[in-house]
Amino acid sequence: MDAIEKAGIPPVRLSGKSAFSFKCHKDVACFTKCCHGINIMLTPYDIIRLKNRLQMSSEEFLAMYTIPRILEKTDLPVVTLKMLDDVEGEPACPFVRENGCLVYEDRPTTCRYYPIGVGSLNYKEEDPDGFYFFVNEPHCLGFEEDADWTVDEWRRDQGVDVHDEINALWTDLIVRKRSLPPNIRLTQKTKNMFFTASYDIEKFRRFVFESSFLTIYDIAAEEIEKIRNDELALLDFSFRWLNWLLFRQGDFKLNDEEIEKRNKGDAENL
Ligand code: SF4
Ligand code: SF4
Repeated sequence: MDAIEKAGIPPVRLSGKSAFSFKCHKDVACFTKCCHGINIMLTPYDIIRLKNRLQMSSEEFLAMYTIPRILEKTDLPVVTLKMLDDVEGEPACPFVRENGCLVYEDRPTTCRYYPIGVGSLNYKEEDPDGFYFFVNEPHCLGFEEDADWTVDEWRRDQGVDVHDEINALWTDLIVRKRSLPPNIRLTQKTKNMFFTASYDIEKFRRFVFESSFLTIYDIAAEEIEKIRNDELALLDFSFRWLNWLLFRQGDFKLNDEEIEKRNKGDAENL
């Protein structure tokens, strides 16, 4: 999350066991203030939840609600939630309403974590185990409320543990890319593939099933059937393929015919 950028928060490190007192509810004077003027990076699973909630394709969601950007120190394309101009001041999240979040049950990972931030995407190279931090924005009065949590309890309560589990390999790819020397640049083709496999699940499905993909890679028939009908299985498949594409790691392999062609030097390098 980029609330760290906005609030200039010193990264006081928290672990899953760190305790804090916090409560957010409709009667706090600051209700929905945190949904204005923010920079929310969306994860792949966030896009799946939101586009399904809004009954849109991923392509439509990306066009209507996101802004592309390159994630600092990674050279990887990501998206942030597009804020709308607000007559009252700071730009507003497109889903905020007077009575709260329009997509609350499917709100993004960053919103679920709030008021906790996740260090892994910002500071992992300084701390291989990752960490959390408080997003101590001055307008947030929730810390004055009386409800005790540990960070792990908060994550479970907000359902963000599920998001983290589904996004785990994708987050790890970003952290590993960030740890590489900056002179290791990606081709535009690889960046485009990262974007599609991360965020545009329907386009990625077409890439898998309507290109030569399944003739180039040796994929078990059961897995092909699974990813054909199961969006989350396809998302997991896309992360594993990105792991192969970026780092040549994981369980992907070219089929024998493709290896032979490549050995002869007459195949395009995917
Ligand atoms: S998605 Fe919902 S919780 Fe998140 S910033 Fe927007 S309105 Fe607020
Ligand atoms: S600013 Fe803090 S307390 Fe106020 S609505 Fe947002 S999370 Fe809740």
